[in-house]
Amino acid sequence: MNNWELYVRKVVPYVPGEQPQESNLIKLNTNENPYPPAPGVIRALEQFDTDRLRLYPEPDCKVLVNAIAEYYGLNSSRVFVGVGSDDVLAMIFMTFFNSEKPILFPDITYSFYDVWADMLRIPYEVKPLDENFLIKKEDYYGENGGVIFPNPNAPTGILMELLEIEEILEHNRDVIVVVDEAYIDFGGKSALPLIEKYDNLLVVQTFSKSRSLAGMRIGFAMGNEKLIKYINDVKYSFNSYTMNQTALALGVEAIKDKDYFEETRQKVIATREWAKGELKKLGFSFGDSMSNFIFAAHESVPAKELFEALKKEHIFVRHFSKERISNYLRISIGTRKEMETLIRFLKGYLK
Ligand code: PMP
Repeated sequence: MNNWELYVRKVVPYVPGEQPQESNLIKLNTNENPYPPAPGVIRALEQFDTDRLRLYPEPDCKVLVNAIAEYYGLNSSRVFVGVGSDDVLAMIFMTFFNSEKPILFPDITYSFYDVWADMLRIPYEVKPLDENFLIKKEDYYGENGGVIFPNPNAPTGILMELLEIEEILEHNRDVIVVVDEAYIDFGGKSALPLIEKYDNLLVVQTFSKSRSLAGMRIGFAMGNEKLIKYINDVKYSFNSYTMNQTALALGVEAIKDKDYFEETRQKVIATREWAKGELKKLGFSFGDSMSNFIFAAHESVPAKELFEALKKEHIFVRHFSKERISNYLRISIGTRKEMETLIRFLKGYLK
């Protein structure tokens, strides 16, 4: 080995879901929204003044920060935006998880958390979910360097009640607690009101799922003004111009359209509930997902086999070859028609 290789920051990268480019497939593998972005987003893109691209975007992302702040009734000093919630979460890890004590997160959760921790040399401890895949709040009461979990959790889809989140906060007054609410709009109650009471709480959300803008890369964090300032300090020390001009302009349109947001999220919820009934009839079992996916295991056919069979039919779902969950498929909620095709195929295959 050459000497320089000793000093490489070696990492085991996160593996995102496949983005196959062929048309004519049913894509239920990365929890995208099956509906297009709000009409205002499409109009704004069509009318976008390309001359603006000569200029750097606003480094403080003010138009979008203000629009999000207004939507949630917050002061804009309490909102931070980034390039998808992945970027926001990475900044949060870098800013706040800087203790010798381990940060805590569940064993089965968003598989980026341990990647960031490893990359940034942050010590961490994973806390096993119980046998029903529920987070055990008591596991987070001990000394630690910070706490992070998604609500609803991913890839299980299971929601934790706000009262339980508050108990975790009560036991963690001296560290930062991050609630990753990527899927909260599909049936959960946001922990956002708790930022008034807990100045160490950060609530992170995204435009990728409930606002149909995964391709635009917009995420945001909300919390105490001081926390937001600290994240901004790190962001400006890394890359001042994170959000491009189009993301800022389209993000504003997406958050403005409350009716479209409500209509599409209700459609996803209704299709999810329908799909739950159908999957149950076919012998699948799963926790009660409150997200835009269902994490299901079949009573007799292994998940890997189903995954391959579906793929042959051009139906993409997600399978994780990981302990405890290797017999599960994570099926994103598509349109009703897409889900009907999925169910029809499974009915035939499992006969
Ligand atoms: N958190 C969770 C729990 C997720 O599942 C995802 C989606 N991969 C993200 C954050 C990141 O989403 P995005 O960067 O698109 O906002």
